[in-house]
Amino acid sequence: MNFNTFDGAGMTSARTRARMIERIKQLGIHDAKVLAVMGMIPRHVFVDEALSHKAYDDTALPIGHGQTISQPYIVAQMTALALGAAQHEKVLEIGTGCGYQAAVLSQLFKTVYTIERIGSLSKGARERLNLLGLHNVRVRHADGSRGLPDAAPFDVILIAAAAPIVPEDLVEQLRIGGRLIFPVGSEDQELRMIERTDEGIVETRLEKVRFVPLLPGLA
Ligand code: SAH
Repeated sequence: MNFNTFDGAGMTSARTRARMIERIKQLGIHDAKVLAVMGMIPRHVFVDEALSHKAYDDTALPIGHGQTISQPYIVAQMTALALGAAQHEKVLEIGTGCGYQAAVLSQLFKTVYTIERIGSLSKGARERLNLLGLHNVRVRHADGSRGLPDAAPFDVILIAAAAPIVPEDLVEQLRIGGRLIFPVGSEDQELRMIERTDEGIVETRLEKVRFVPLLPGLA
């Protein structure tokens, strides 16, 4: 896929995006595939034009409705963890937001399912992903807190919003060798990973993070 046609000058240029990749590397992400994909996907397409000069800063940015596009470093970290799954056929993302993480995953997994509870964000994400020609992403407007049983099993389930408690029931929607990657907590949040192996469940506690809350119902 060639995304160059979306690049602008200055703060929306490929060179500015390359600086973001350097920053992500400095923070300890060295997975070549993740860096290559994030070096291609035009993040500025996923934020409001008034914020596009900040699109390649390593920060979360507002996307409306009190929600945010995740910090690039965190997207890179979660994507690198996702690539550690045994297979890369099907990934489920809960919390589409503007669709950026889904766009990154679309280049690394055969099919991406992504669920968003806020209708206008879901619609906007679908339009952007279509504009970029990313036709292996299926966008659903739904409450994703119970996963997506009708499309299970997944190789990876990635949650982009923080649940107050560990969403253990989602593990059933993972394949053996699959990974559930999620932030947990309210005030103090932590990134965690649960792997479903032949011998059972392995949980790893990762770093401190800051995500918007996982909320019930549609909006
Ligand atoms: N993945 C995004 C980050 C989105 S922020 C990125 O690429 O930057 C998290 C999103 O999760 C918000 O848009 C929020 O509305 C959504 N969300 C929260 N609870 C949800 C739920 N139960 N089901 C689906 N989406 C949810």
